[in-house]
Amino acid sequence: MNNTFLNSWYKILRNCNYDNTYKMAWAKAIVEIALEADYRNIVEMYEITLEFIAHKVIKYYWNQTIFFNLIQGSNPLKPPKILTLTKELIDKYKSLFLMQPIRFEKVHHLLTNDKVLSKHYTNTIKKIITTLKADVSYRFLNIGGQKLEKIYQYEKGDASLFIRKQDLKTLKDNAQQIFDIINYRWSLILETFNSTPRICKKVKIIDDIGIRRRPLNRYIKYLDMDNPNHICFICDLRIESGLLSIDHVIPWSYLYSDDLWNLVYTHKGCNSAKSNVIPEERFIRKLEERNKRLLQTLSLWKNSGLP
Ligand SMILES: [Zn+2]
Repeated sequence: MNNTFLNSWYKILRNCNYDNTYKMAWAKAIVEIALEADYRNIVEMYEITLEFIAHKVIKYYWNQTIFFNLIQGSNPLKPPKILTLTKELIDKYKSLFLMQPIRFEKVHHLLTNDKVLSKHYTNTIKKIITTLKADVSYRFLNIGGQKLEKIYQYEKGDASLFIRKQDLKTLKDNAQQIFDIINYRWSLILETFNSTPRICKKVKIIDDIGIRRRPLNRYIKYLDMDNPNHICFICDLRIESGLLSIDHVIPWSYLYSDDLWNLVYTHKGCNSAKSNVIPEERFIRKLEERNKRLLQTLSLWKNSGLP
């Protein structure tokens, strides 16, 4: 096993700075490419274009942003360029298709085939390549002003990097471990400027196939106990059948969890109107009151022995 090579990789990941998450995205892209490469056709060196890396990098940021809106840089006034570009692409997508948050992999066909969106996507990739060239490609190899040798060959400004076949294979063989380290470091960095809960879980879930949102119907029984007349939590008016919706008061994207204490009935319109914004304080207080009541109702119900 090529220990020196692998150790250098670990050293880079351990010593990353906490300004932004570029190095993590860059590393993850290279390891993912190592997993997908066709080794039969590689003679000695394998070429990885920065364009290929850019496609991977935007996928990570797209999924973290569209579901969880995670902040990826320490300076709130100057967010990392790649994140801004990703957000612009997401906005473009939403303006054209108006859909619920969706994984990058599922919109890829639109990004490459839709006339308007594909143009925007191509432009975004170009700009990301520029940032990768200027800020990540060679800096990745620098630790405390020293350049680590033999990770990959890259000349400043080039459109590709070259990695030895055996090194690529080492990345492939240790991919799971390296991904775990990257996700751990990525979470640590995010924790320094995101105050939202469950960062690790949010970062990890990006690697899983589906971000599953389970149906909330199983809570109806309990919500009905407290609110049998279906009064809307937001506007206090009665909700006609057909317009009833179960809403997360603290947005799902923030908590990344369904919990009864956070669920209320709202009108379908009142629900979507507030989308993913953290609620005003009066709604938090209102939720607190509701939960006190609900807890009482539930304990009465439990003690009554009714089904
Ligand atoms: Zn309402």
